[in-house]
Amino acid sequence: MVNFSDEMVREVLSGTDIVDIISAYLSLKSSGKNFRTLCPFHSEKTPSFMVSREKQIYHCFGCGEGGNALTFLMKYERLSFPEAVRHLADRAGIKLPEKKGGKGGGFPSPRLDLYEVNLLACRFFQEQLQRSPEGEKAREYLKSRGIEEEAWGRFLLGYAPASWDQLVRHLRVEGKPSSLLETAGLILPGRRPGAFLDRFRDRLMIPILDTQERILGFGARAFAEGESKYLNSPTSPIYNKGETLYGLNWAYRRIRDPGQALIVEGYFDLISLHLFGWETAVASSGTSLTSGQARLLRRYTDRAILLFDSDPAGVKASVRSIEVLLEEGFALKVAKLPSGHDPDSLLRREGRGAMEEVLNQSWDWLDFIWGGEKGERLGGDIGEDLHRVKGILPILGKMKDRLASAHYLKRLAEKADLREEVLLKEMKEMGRREILQPSSQPPSPKAYPVEERQALEIALLHPERRDRWAELLDPSQISDPQLQRVFALFFQYGPEREEELRQFLCQEADEEVRNLCTGIWAKGGQEFGEAEVAFADCVRRMKERREKQSKKELRQKIKEAEQAGDSMAALELIKEHPSLKR
Ligand SMILES: [Zn+2]
Repeated sequence: MVNFSDEMVREVLSGTDIVDIISAYLSLKSSGKNFRTLCPFHSEKTPSFMVSREKQIYHCFGCGEGGNALTFLMKYERLSFPEAVRHLADRAGIKLPEKKGGKGGGFPSPRLDLYEVNLLACRFFQEQLQRSPEGEKAREYLKSRGIEEEAWGRFLLGYAPASWDQLVRHLRVEGKPSSLLETAGLILPGRRPGAFLDRFRDRLMIPILDTQERILGFGARAFAEGESKYLNSPTSPIYNKGETLYGLNWAYRRIRDPGQALIVEGYFDLISLHLFGWETAVASSGTSLTSGQARLLRRYTDRAILLFDSDPAGVKASVRSIEVLLEEGFALKVAKLPSGHDPDSLLRREGRGAMEEVLNQSWDWLDFIWGGEKGERLGGDIGEDLHRVKGILPILGKMKDRLASAHYLKRLAEKADLREEVLLKEMKEMGRREILQPSSQPPSPKAYPVEERQALEIALLHPERRDRWAELLDPSQISDPQLQRVFALFFQYGPEREEELRQFLCQEADEEVRNLCTGIWAKGGQEFGEAEVAFADCVRRMKERREKQSKKELRQKIKEAEQAGDSMAALELIKEHPSLKR
């Protein structure tokens, strides 16, 4: 395997703009010199994830995560270091040395291989749908649902033939190992050792893509009665149903404009909506929304309309989805379909106008839950009212948006004809019961000695005065070994090599140190009064801390000597250090 030299990595980084890289995944809003967005690495309501074009770094002030374009790709895309370097080099048009003996370069990466094998499978299924004789029933089926040929290509639809091993054989010809196909969830081991069967047989194939247009897995619809109607790819290193939204690859750019997403359940609901022009729709591919899916969507918007079937199962699923979306901080409405319809059937049978009407009449989520599936206030029945209040309070308690929670508490009190204070007390009571369960808080960042951290902050923000800092401070005076090392590097790289220092700290340093440094760079401009006075003050405080520490140790030694009855030794120690007053 080729090892990239530091110079190569530097060349790749200097041909890269971190803002371009990150905005391919997240919608960045300009904020002064920098850009801000919601952090993809922790769940939050207000954006504390910052990207600096000037410094070519990112940093989250919420969870402390920081780094450069390479560390971002490694973390977000779960790429290895060489994969991330290669990805950036490809984008920047920089040629890197090829892997020895490899075809066309590239490092072996199970994830990238899985995308590739899914793409090959997708092409095979498309071919079957478009041309094979067995594909006729799939073609007929799609036409019967009003999905014409031009839409097949747009949604990459395909057909998996009814045979046992056509895909296995096809991909073997392409030179793909069975183990890879198995990991991708395309095939299953057969009875005979070493034999494999196609997982998807006689099904309409619906590829599921990510926002990078890579195929993560498939949804597959059966034609035969008695088969389970939908089958999904199993979880793989690149696919997890609960963290994937079907259609996000088409919708995510559209969502930004109205700033609102439309959430549906099924694959065909999504396809119909997109075909009829509602291109902000995403689908949960199955039942209710998971928090992973809500967090994924939250990267693009904080407003959504839920469009779910009005049958009891649909209502139940939407109530769960409402809870999940509110917990992730969404402002939410619910649109109810006329009974007996799903979005697909409504569009095809009743047309655009009917859907427009449904969406225009969407309900505020509280009215929806309060009204229940009949959509009317069940006034008068106190028992029923209280039951509903008890169902809704925990949702309010978990809402991420405190103001919205207060607003809904007030409205709930009005609906139930109860005093707000009573509800608030009950909600807090419920919250307390939940707090007893362990919560998953991110580990608190390491506490560095304040004066050492401050000195580093001043130094990193004023690299042009490096020589002055070096006069005032010798790195050996720093007690924390990691900060000592950062200072040593800082002095070693001249002011003209600041880029290199940043690269080094992002690539090589311990994660704590990296996050500390990106935090300092991201904050920027922060002044501690006059930098030199402040720096000198830090150095003085370091000295004080050292002296205090050594006195403490000395006192301990004297105490030990006295306890051992060795008063001569104790006196010697005191004589050595006249400043030590007892
Ligand atoms: Zn974060």
